[in-house]
Amino acid sequence: MHPISTPGRPTADPRTSGPRTPRLRASSRLRRTTAALGLNAVLVGVLVGVPAAAAERRADLTPPVVTADEVMPHLDVLQRIADRSGGNRAHGTRGYRDSVAYVKAVLDRAGFRTTLHRFTHDGATSYNLLADWPGGDPEHVVFAGAHLDSVADGPGINDNGSGSAALLATALEVSKAGLRPDRHLRFAWWGAEEVGLVGSSAYVRDLPAAERERIDVYLNVDMAGTRNSGRWLVVHDDTAAAEAFEGYFAARNLPTIGIGIGGSDHVSFGDVGIPVGGFATGIDECTHAACDRVENVDPQTETISTNAVISTVWQLAARR
Ligand SMILES: [Zn+2]
Repeated sequence: MHPISTPGRPTADPRTSGPRTPRLRASSRLRRTTAALGLNAVLVGVLVGVPAAAAERRADLTPPVVTADEVMPHLDVLQRIADRSGGNRAHGTRGYRDSVAYVKAVLDRAGFRTTLHRFTHDGATSYNLLADWPGGDPEHVVFAGAHLDSVADGPGINDNGSGSAALLATALEVSKAGLRPDRHLRFAWWGAEEVGLVGSSAYVRDLPAAERERIDVYLNVDMAGTRNSGRWLVVHDDTAAAEAFEGYFAARNLPTIGIGIGGSDHVSFGDVGIPVGGFATGIDECTHAACDRVENVDPQTETISTNAVISTVWQLAARR
């Protein structure tokens, strides 16, 4: 499901038509600069007598920046899973189960506490994948999710392998940074979104009221790499989340459109009064079709989207 139709026009694929774009090269430079700054912060802390922990905390506040090489390989894996599973990763199929197994294995290796939340729909058992990053205030949870299932008609690599990969890359950056957030961080990959937000609504339904109360904000990403989208559709509900996403895009002169709550798994959270945020890059002619393959995802858009998620998660995790 998706909030708004975004028609586009064809352009060259940056992965096949030439060298990497300057923007992507700039990202890796930024990444090295960020790493150097982090080191300097620790050194300065030592020199001026600031406790090392405090210096590290400041370094924590600078979000990392990923390149396409840290995001797109996850989409290649999801494409291969679909290719060997009848061309899709839909609810109740091997393609969905293999998708969950892949994401779970990556997260387990990175030190996340993963759990499977089981639900049944239309005679088929399925699972939402939850991943908690150890630490942070459990009374204040920053929660980010994306649906991992596809429709039956196609592999669903932009809808929503792209959001799933953006979240997975974000989780891996949390792990690499050894982030010690003020608020607790939880990620989710939802099942059975395409058949009516089934996985996320089952999760919210099964969540005790006290657990719902602990969720400060839920962020959703459903389609992050649409070709020729040229704009990001930002959910306007939780003010801090909307400001973080819009601030990220505005700082890079990337256009946004404000949208209400609708179209994807954040509805399940919004319906019970949990503040929500997130964004989408909009549908195109391959959405819900067999051509929603990895070639249908624009690496540059996908990378920008991923960095927007990283930046926002860093910002919200540090705020209480
Ligand atoms: Zn979707």
